Amino acid sequence: MELREDLTPFESVNYFFDRATKVTEVSDAAHAVLSGTYRELRVQVPVRRDSGELQVFIGYRIQHNGARGPYKGGIRYHPLADLEEVRALASLMTWKTALVDLPYGGAKGGVQVDVRDFSEREKQQLTRRYAGQISHIIGATRDIPAPDMNTNAQTMAWIMDEYGRKYGHTPQIVTGKPIALGGSYGREAATGRGCVIVMEEACKDRGLSPDGLSVVIQGFGNVGSWAARIAHDQGFRIIATSDIKGGIHAPNGLDIPKLVEHVAQTGSVVDFPGSSPISNDDLMTLKCDVLMPAALGEVITHRNVDDVDTQIIIEAANHPVTPVADATLADRGVLVVPDILANAGGVIVSYFEWVQNIQEFRWEESEVNDRLSTKLRRAYGQVKDFRDAKGTSMREAAFALAVERVIEAATLRGYL
Ligand code: NAD
Repeated sequence: MELREDLTPFESVNYFFDRATKVTEVSDAAHAVLSGTYRELRVQVPVRRDSGELQVFIGYRIQHNGARGPYKGGIRYHPLADLEEVRALASLMTWKTALVDLPYGGAKGGVQVDVRDFSEREKQQLTRRYAGQISHIIGATRDIPAPDMNTNAQTMAWIMDEYGRKYGHTPQIVTGKPIALGGSYGREAATGRGCVIVMEEACKDRGLSPDGLSVVIQGFGNVGSWAARIAHDQGFRIIATSDIKGGIHAPNGLDIPKLVEHVAQTGSVVDFPGSSPISNDDLMTLKCDVLMPAALGEVITHRNVDDVDTQIIIEAANHPVTPVADATLADRGVLVVPDILANAGGVIVSYFEWVQNIQEFRWEESEVNDRLSTKLRRAYGQVKDFRDAKGTSMREAAFALAVERVIEAATLRGYL
């Protein structure tokens, strides 16, 4: 794949896959299989709005590769969750689960919808309809969904219930459930916690001590807000953050526990006392030690990469850096911890939740967090060692390791 500025999200992930083939052996057959998706389901999702109007939305469930185990990946409700975006996210899940050595393949779901003005009843109907339409291809040993942007534990509870009506009570059909319905302690915070774990490793890698290091986090949803809370507790200084309504900046550091209260009361980070406003665009180019995009994809591109002023980027969001921008950052020596490593904490604890459901036994939160930390730090070390041995970037090393593992599983199955 040629490096261009106008690659689609799926082409961008495949560009990174292609780069990995330069540092590890990939046959033409393996390339043909792994640069496409295994199965793509497109469904109509009609919703009766509270106004009485019937609106029809389009949803997808895309399974990229299942060589290593059942498909696994979140469900996103977003106007930009189109076919190419969901394909990209599904393929990232294949590489992510392989990189952190989970017995899963990769999938993703999405409905192209803006749920900001949806009532709870409307969200429930949307979710039940979508779950019903994809129920024939998901399953506790086939494909296990989880939350992503604009979906949460409540969404998972509705999916579990809808699936259970057809197939019987099956808590392990989804992960990221409420604790009361078989969710795991530590799952809600897991992606953000994982981002902070890899941020600590990246600081060590660069010989930096976390104390007082300045961090900018774009997005204050599930991932961004938990990353901010945990990083704040570890001594990092969060100097700016944002949500879809705008950003806030405080050079001496934001009081994150107070900010969490402010968001709970007002629904947004904006107007947080003691901070000054900043746009989402300016936030990305603020001088800082660590930049953590934790909202949408493609926020660091050829347009703003020259103004990005940081030593380390932790890709909490999926594909936040385009391939062109990635090449520039590599030339400048910025340490980019790729999404398939940086945000893998969520799927790791999803796996723990699935295991607990199968065992019908709940683990303590400390056990969940300890196992998460061990798994992620091991993966970081493996990627770093591969990077140093081959003289390549963290991203190429991470993709190469993941690709090797998927190819090994597919070959052993007799698929390749
Ligand atoms: P979320 O819906 O809880 O939060 C998203 C945040 O981004 C919100 O603060 C929202 O206001 C903000 N946002 C949305 N559009 C924006 C825009 N145009 N500009 C600035 N901010 C904007 O979602 P999440 O679960 O926190 O997911 C965030 C990212 O992390 C996504 O890329 C997702 O794929 C990735 N991720 C999530 C998980 C998980 O476990 N939830 C796991 C791995 C990766």
